Amino acid sequence: MTVTKTRTAVVTGSSSGIGLGIARGLAGAGMNVVLNGIEPEDQIEPIRKAIEADFGVGARYDRANLMAPEGVAELIDGAVEAFGAVDVLVNNAGIQFVSPVEDFPDEKWQAIINLNLSAAFYATKAVVAGMKARGWGRIINIASAHGLVASPYKSAYVAAKHGIVGFTKTIALETAEHGVTVNAICPGYVWTPLVEKQIPDTAKARGISEEAVIRDVLLASQPTKKFATVEEIAALAVFLTSDGAASITGTALPVDGGWTAH
Ligand code: NAD
Repeated sequence: MTVTKTRTAVVTGSSSGIGLGIARGLAGAGMNVVLNGIEPEDQIEPIRKAIEADFGVGARYDRANLMAPEGVAELIDGAVEAFGAVDVLVNNAGIQFVSPVEDFPDEKWQAIINLNLSAAFYATKAVVAGMKARGWGRIINIASAHGLVASPYKSAYVAAKHGIVGFTKTIALETAEHGVTVNAICPGYVWTPLVEKQIPDTAKARGISEEAVIRDVLLASQPTKKFATVEEIAALAVFLTSDGAASITGTALPVDGGWTAH
């Protein structure tokens, strides 16, 4: 592993989808990256190696399970041990569950709140003192269009994502004088495994076909009628880490093909 004296980014939930796109984007901008996810090491090793080979930075994979605070501590401690500091934190790990509220399983509610909201709190808490002391830091929370508006049957997800937008604003205010910015990115539908997996459940909940879910539910609210891409989300994340974005803090930035313009 190449350990260079450069900035280090921790991207939670970056073994696939949006997180992996962001990790590759930040590596492309010259940062060491810490990948995280729950997939086995051997499955992620080729991805990790490719990042080091493609961008000449250090890349580490940490399989910490972020459902509990101990997993978050393990991830941040491991990153500091490997690279010396965490300069950029991207709170991206997230899961979804779709069900009418009266049938919504308690354990699914708790898991979504734990991973999509509380893990961001614990990770932020662990890195913010170092960022303030060094006078530079970037925290990017991957919320969702569902951090700004709601859809039926996604009560836990919408609650967690609205929560992370409020958390973003709060920490932005707490760090504003210390060279640290805190922003939320609010993607509309991006084609990733998370979206693919929710199609059968949405079809069941609404009593319609999977094709109809894509056409009439997912892309119905996205005026461009196209899924956003992982690369588009990554491009904004990379910009938010740049000096040009130093005065952007406390925002929730939609990348949603016009969804929240409705
Ligand atoms: P994904 O399913 O492709 O990836 C999820 C990642 O989280 C994986 O790396 C997985 O290993 C990791 N993960 C799952 N459980 C974990 C745990 N307990 N501990 C640590 N890591 C865990 O998902 P995605 O679509 O890339 O979504 C990433 C983020 O973007 C989520 O927060 C999601 O809510 C948000 N988002 C996605 C979309 C979309 O359309 N895909 C839209 C808006 C917001």
